[in-house]
Amino acid sequence: MEIQRNPTRAVRIGSLTIGQGHPIAVQSMTATHTQDVAATVAQVQAIAEAGGDVIRIAVDSQKDAAALAEVRQQTTANLSVDLQENYRLAEVVAPHVDKVRYNPGHLYHHERDKPWQDKVKSIVAAASAHDCAIRIGVNCGSVDPDKRAKYDPEDSITPMLESALEHCKLLDSLGFTRYCVSLKDSDPAKVIEVNRRFAAERNDVPLHLGVTEAGMPPDGIIKTRIAFEQLIGQGIGDTIRVSLTLPNARKPEEIEAGRTILADIAAGRVRTVVDFGRDELNIISCPSCSRVENEAFIELAADVKAMTAYAQQHAITIAVMGCRVNGPGETDDADLGLWCGPSHVNLKRRSETLGAFSYDEILPRLKDELDQLIAER
Ligand code: SF4
Repeated sequence: MEIQRNPTRAVRIGSLTIGQGHPIAVQSMTATHTQDVAATVAQVQAIAEAGGDVIRIAVDSQKDAAALAEVRQQTTANLSVDLQENYRLAEVVAPHVDKVRYNPGHLYHHERDKPWQDKVKSIVAAASAHDCAIRIGVNCGSVDPDKRAKYDPEDSITPMLESALEHCKLLDSLGFTRYCVSLKDSDPAKVIEVNRRFAAERNDVPLHLGVTEAGMPPDGIIKTRIAFEQLIGQGIGDTIRVSLTLPNARKPEEIEAGRTILADIAAGRVRTVVDFGRDELNIISCPSCSRVENEAFIELAADVKAMTAYAQQHAITIAVMGCRVNGPGETDDADLGLWCGPSHVNLKRRSETLGAFSYDEILPRLKDELDQLIAER
């Protein structure tokens, strides 16, 4: 099947180039604690051996940054760093990676009086000085609050789009064009729409595609496949990640899943469009990363799926998130949300917090809430 790809520009990430018709790259992210250098290097190697083109590592502190420098010494893989709230770490980590990812929605937590443009300028300066590409990574759960406030709360797509376009414009004005963009949501239909709209406005900018918090295989792969078939089938997308909730040892399966989807699309083995998640239970869970504070999260995600099987016919969304960095925000839109701390799991009904429960208590408590929700409908 001949697919006419969008005429994106070339962006080099270490030894890899994306865009401008280069093969679609497949990425993954480590879920080990970054400061556990041996475990992180082992996971980077396992992902690279599975065919990962770029491997992302989360860095939240100076200690993580120091560990990243050690990881860099032990691998030649193309590394990307995930900066969350601490944009100032960019200059510390840039010498050790090939790409820096920042989230526009996370530039508001520190130094609130400093304009976001100045923060982006310092990230760009660090990337330029150290031969790094940048990803502007917009995520449904953490959109720029000013953009969100401008639109109907039901419209989650326009604020994401506007935020991405605004950041592209700033980077362009700084003469920095070695960047790509991602616009991720847990709903494949929204991923399709927001990326189509972005590509219609900026078909020169390479896109990194992904469905965030897709969950466990096989469901997580199916959700992702739906979005990728629709987008890549129309020439949109230069690099991908299949985000799956998996135990650490199985993380390379993200690469395998991505390559299988790409091969199927290239061969025309696509499924018909599914109106996903509208009339049935939808469980979303984060793919886990180094920020997970209790490994019991992975088992909990599987237990939630098994326990809620009886509610399959109900259009209810349950989100299970691994940490306090993104958990509180990304559970807001779910009917029931769980985000995991070191010893407790926080239970929410949409944006309302219902309490914190131990890992032993949480399942029956979740079931009570689910039963109540079903009874109310
Ligand atoms: S919710 Fe937390 S643990 Fe899960 S992938 Fe996001 S940052 Fe990592």
